[in-house]
Amino acid sequence: MESRRTEAPAIGIDLGTTYSCVAVWKHGRVEIIPNEQGNRTTPSTVAFTDVERLIGEGAKNQVAMNPANTIFDAKRLIGRRFSDPKVQDDMKLWPFKVKNGSGDKPKIVVSYKGQKKKFLAEEVSSMILGKMKETAEAYLGKVVKDAVITVPAYFDDSQRQATKDAGTIAGLNVLHIINEPTAAAIAYGLANKPNISQKMNVLVFDLGGGTLDVSILAITKEGTFDVKVVGGDTHLGGEDFDNCMVDYCVREFKRKWKKDLTKNPKALGRLRVACENAKRILSSTTQTSIDLDYLHEGTDFSMKFTRAKFEEMNMDSFDKCIKIVENCLNDAKIEKSSVAEIVLVGGSTRIPKVQQMLRELFDGKELCKSVNPDEAVAYGAAVLAAKLSGIKDNNLQSLLLLDVTPLSLGVETTGNEMNVLIPRNTTIPTKAEKIFYTNEDNQYCVKIKVYQGERARSTDNHLLGEFKISGIPAAPKGVAQIKESLEIDANGILTVTAEILSTGKKDKLVISNKNGRLSKEEIDKMVKDGEKYRLQDQEYKKRMDAYNALEVFLYHMKNRIKEYTIKKSVQPKRLKKMENAIADTTKWLEKNQVAPVEEFGRRKVFLESVFASP
Ligand code: AMP
Repeated sequence: MESRRTEAPAIGIDLGTTYSCVAVWKHGRVEIIPNEQGNRTTPSTVAFTDVERLIGEGAKNQVAMNPANTIFDAKRLIGRRFSDPKVQDDMKLWPFKVKNGSGDKPKIVVSYKGQKKKFLAEEVSSMILGKMKETAEAYLGKVVKDAVITVPAYFDDSQRQATKDAGTIAGLNVLHIINEPTAAAIAYGLANKPNISQKMNVLVFDLGGGTLDVSILAITKEGTFDVKVVGGDTHLGGEDFDNCMVDYCVREFKRKWKKDLTKNPKALGRLRVACENAKRILSSTTQTSIDLDYLHEGTDFSMKFTRAKFEEMNMDSFDKCIKIVENCLNDAKIEKSSVAEIVLVGGSTRIPKVQQMLRELFDGKELCKSVNPDEAVAYGAAVLAAKLSGIKDNNLQSLLLLDVTPLSLGVETTGNEMNVLIPRNTTIPTKAEKIFYTNEDNQYCVKIKVYQGERARSTDNHLLGEFKISGIPAAPKGVAQIKESLEIDANGILTVTAEILSTGKKDKLVISNKNGRLSKEEIDKMVKDGEKYRLQDQEYKKRMDAYNALEVFLYHMKNRIKEYTIKKSVQPKRLKKMENAIADTTKWLEKNQVAPVEEFGRRKVFLESVFASP
């Protein structure tokens, strides 16, 4: 680590499905940090090639050439099981391979430097987080340790835990996991402070690349953000619209040319990029076309897309979005007319039809576009990061966050019944406990299974974890009492405790691997692997810099030889020596792109001596 660097303030990271954004509190306000290309958001893409690992812009730029080893959508996998029907569906569309790892955890398989490598979604996300950390470090000139990371409000416990683990693997101390719409509301609150009446209801509609999040908050001028209700779908967003377009084009290609594009990952990769681009264009014009030369087996592809066609093919998804907003209003028991602002967040809220349908739902009310939809989430995360790291500022001091749990939490009781202890939309942190009785004579132990979800039958919900508490003193059934308590901390993360009341014996739930959580050893190993890959990236960059320096030098010397030849200013014998040296080095360079850094340097020094000697 470079010694000039000292520790930087905590940063806020919006870890998006398709793009990520990092921000920091500086000089009393939030600054969005641009990446090395000057862009304020960075693709959440990681690519592996025969020679290097690329993260962000570099990875996205080469996706069409290297689709099988370019990973995107890690957020759609994180904290999910391989057998999850959504994972199974997504896999059909991804050009990269996903296999079932141990404990039903999906593993992404790529080829890196000619070797097969398997990564968990946490590791891929940690690479993106690492990139955002580096972006901030380069901008601030300091080492970044602490961060607030955002997640969709609708993420369940394992998805949150896994995101936190990804932060740890990236070498970050995760101060807090904050819900994306809550972070966006903070951004709205700060930007519109003068216009906020004493207390007002704000609905945040966050439609990004992979998820829809809706939250209704009561916010005050003083800076209280009281989340009343959250709703959403962790699998509904811009990529679904892209997929719809890709599917349509694949069908058209088959109909017209009787050829199956799905067997050609490169063609699918190119088509996906073109569809996303066309979708963006259709937000500002009503017609565009997709033209791809030599798409598959020498056949070109060309197709007109109108905004109307795009809207028609995605109408089901748009309807789903509106239904979720209606459900949120019902759950919060808030009339449409009491919503003072509808704040749009996420790139997909630029779609005119989505805006129109929302406006119609709210009887023609204008939508608030005063926060930047791509940056508001990272902005809010940076505000919270500054507050949690103790920065003194009036705007931060009075900030108070009251978030809620998105899904009900409970334990299984006899007959697979879901016994809810913490109903959804309960303000967190929270703790709930309930006493349960044994249901057999002399029962020695109880198995506690914790579920998250809204269905009456436990098995229809999401199993978060299970554990046994034993040592119950012998007693007839229905006598021994077990106190089970569920506690959610401010990050939305859950701890479960069981206590045998007669003896005071307690046990805590350790969420096992099977349920998504990584063990300390696994995280440590991934931290080490992450560092290894980072060093390899640095090494590769150094080598490429040395390679380029030699290539540029060769180019200049070739020009100098041309000049010497025209002017006849150098003796023929010396000129010959120079030409030979240039020819030898050019030949060597063609065959030795992966030579050690020092070798490039040595060759350059040698050439310099040839050209310098009298
Ligand atoms: P986010 O996760 O908020 O960064 O949103 C990214 C998603 O927004 C991607 O699916 C983009 O394709 C989509 N997006 C960005 N700009 C536009 C636009 N002008 N029209 C439609 N979708 C867009």
